[in-house]
Amino acid sequence: MSWSLLLMWKIIGQGRAVSLLEQSVKAGTLAHAYLMAGPPHVGKMTLAVQLAQALNCEADEKPCLECDSCKKIASGAHADVQVIGLLQNEDDAEAKLIHTEQIKDILHSANLPPFEGKHKVFIIDGAELLSTDAANRLLKTLEEPVEKVTFILLTTNDRLLLPTVVSRCQRLELTPLSISEGVRALAEKGVEPERARLLAGLSHGCPGWAIAATEDGQVLQQRNEELERIIGVIGADCEERFDYAGRLAARFSQNRGAIYETLDRWLDYWRDLLLVKLGGEDMIVNADRRSELAGMAGNYNLTQIKDYIESIGRAAEQLRQNANARLALEVMMLDIPDKEGGGVKNG
Ligand SMILES: [Zn+2]
Repeated sequence: MSWSLLLMWKIIGQGRAVSLLEQSVKAGTLAHAYLMAGPPHVGKMTLAVQLAQALNCEADEKPCLECDSCKKIASGAHADVQVIGLLQNEDDAEAKLIHTEQIKDILHSANLPPFEGKHKVFIIDGAELLSTDAANRLLKTLEEPVEKVTFILLTTNDRLLLPTVVSRCQRLELTPLSISEGVRALAEKGVEPERARLLAGLSHGCPGWAIAATEDGQVLQQRNEELERIIGVIGADCEERFDYAGRLAARFSQNRGAIYETLDRWLDYWRDLLLVKLGGEDMIVNADRRSELAGMAGNYNLTQIKDYIESIGRAAEQLRQNANARLALEVMMLDIPDKEGGGVKNG
């Protein structure tokens, strides 16, 4: 991975995808459609926007990020670069999909020549949310590419896309950064080392999350509160644990995503205990809780920790399969292992 290349494309990590795109831009061998797949906040939108900038940049070294064209694209004001995704401020079920009308609009626009730049770029954010009709319409266009038009589909899960759409796109996989890559990137942004290490771990290699956390103190605050609750529940009696399961289950009916995040925090905590137990402290996520984790790890044996990690995974899987949320979470509470030699306080 060449660092200078990464500096020009202001992207954190993703060396393989960046170098492929840079070569294609230089050689003029661009695909008509790209599918960028990777977890949330890994950098899909950043990379897509920079490809649009590279294609329209007025400087020699593209993308310069400083010319009028690059700046307009960055601010969403360039007439030839459009982003579509879920419509905002709609709560009905309809809003859970990208509509045919949205696709019709961009297909119409795709047939007109570039208005102010050199190359039209259409970015479809959350492509797995295209309605079947919208996806089929898009497919027709992908089958008959238009010159100077590039479609970039972004997705967290390309298995949810029509296979025919996927097969028309060049697939780019964006992978999470390692902790050391994350630390280095945050250090370059002026984040002090200890905080950089914490955020790199908590972000699971997705720099978008880490950067949001440096800009918004609430992100870390929420994580701290959630972690305190988890540690509290681990040390609590059955009644308190069941109360907690009940509250989570109630939240699950309103906001599914939030529960998966909470379960991820549980997983992080218990994986950290496992890492501490195995001498892998360098890789722990909750880097600000080292001594606490070391103390907690002493309470359990390896088998207990591994079994409990599996239990959390089972609960998450059952929620995904629409099992009774309260029941799944209560079982997860019952599975919290007894401290070796101590035993759980019975309520
Ligand atoms: Zn430029």
